[in-house]
Amino acid sequence: MSNRFHNNPPLRYGMVGGGVTSQIGDSHRAAMRRDSYFQLVAGAFDIDKERGQQYGKSLGLDPDRTYADYLQMAKAETSREDMIQVVGVMTPNSTHYKIAKTFIESGVNVILEKPITTNTDDALELMRLAKEKDVLCASMYGYSGYPMVRQARAMVEAGELGEIRVVQTEFAHGNCATAVEQHSEGAAWRNDPKTSGDTFVLGDVGAHALHLATFITKQQVQEVAADRQCFVKGRILEDNAHVLLRFEKGAAGYLWASGVAIGHRHGLAIRVFGSKAGIEWHQERPNQLFLSPLGQTQRILELDSPELHPPAKRLLRVGAGHPEGYFEAFSNIYSDFAEVLLAKLSGETPDQLSLDFPTLEDGAHGVKFIEACVESADNNGCWVNSKLDDSI
Ligand code: NAD
Repeated sequence: MSNRFHNNPPLRYGMVGGGVTSQIGDSHRAAMRRDSYFQLVAGAFDIDKERGQQYGKSLGLDPDRTYADYLQMAKAETSREDMIQVVGVMTPNSTHYKIAKTFIESGVNVILEKPITTNTDDALELMRLAKEKDVLCASMYGYSGYPMVRQARAMVEAGELGEIRVVQTEFAHGNCATAVEQHSEGAAWRNDPKTSGDTFVLGDVGAHALHLATFITKQQVQEVAADRQCFVKGRILEDNAHVLLRFEKGAAGYLWASGVAIGHRHGLAIRVFGSKAGIEWHQERPNQLFLSPLGQTQRILELDSPELHPPAKRLLRVGAGHPEGYFEAFSNIYSDFAEVLLAKLSGETPDQLSLDFPTLEDGAHGVKFIEACVESADNNGCWVNSKLDDSI
């Protein structure tokens, strides 16, 4: 990844959510800045107007471009010659649809947090609108920006694992093993169906695990059979779920999403087993990919391994051995998105390798998956279709 724009970022960027108390706002700002593609020029950062305005000031923004809410922001920005070209939406789940819709309709390109909406119809409507308005959108599955995740995908594509047979993926942490929602704004909205949607861990972390599986295998999950539980007293939505998966090309799998897995710190991992080899990746050791070819001793691919494919190699930023990780993965998504957008704006063909950022369609598949899991779990774990219609 190069930093070819230095002090002259070519894209004007605005932010909705991501205020001073937010969990994810700073990751977006770090990602946006790293390769100098974006300049933050506007925002409606907070549900609390005063706090949002103070925050905009602390970030050095023009007070005229720190807005009370997203509607005011869309209206004011679209009447400026130097209006924002991209907006990042990082608010609680139930607000994503209306905020993204407003900006897409105004012709602004959107980077939208996951789950992109709280139901599939809304997700499909955003896809339709984005096509109609010819705007570029990404859904923020940041973990697919890790070099070793791109390596895993390239290995599957090159046939190095053979036919994919089994996929096991999990995002199971222990951070919600007690009623943390009683003293945390972020945990409180996640456990309220009005703001979170119909799920807690399935949407909050399970969607990431699903995306890793579909990104690496390039296969959608066709059907799911789910079981979900709520273990912590007073909680409404599930804090643990197990889901059996049937992939569209015949692989079998399972996904575990949890907030009560005490001892798991972040807990995102994936194992993919093919007819020629198996691979394993843990996000807490992101620069190592465990490779077990049939009949050979297991080995560990590192960021400087000669076996690395171009989609992984191009993401290295510093010499091997330096820890690179979470923030860089987020930046990789932002920078790929910027490369594709800049090519579009100048009528050029983008570098094919920059097309791997997660799209609105990936986001919609996540929403469909969540919905299918709920239907299945509510019907004693029966198999439910979780694949988007092929015509979409
Ligand atoms: P949070 O509660 O920590 O922060 C939400 C922020 O949005 C706050 O600043 C709040 O004031 C602001 N806000 C709320 N409603 C708003 C509105 N209508 N207009 C403007 N600002 C508003 O939540 P979070 O943990 O930062 O999560 C936000 C979103 O990001 C969620 O959809 C979540 O699923 C997603 N998320 C994604 C990742 C990832 O790895 N991609 C990680 C964490 C969270």
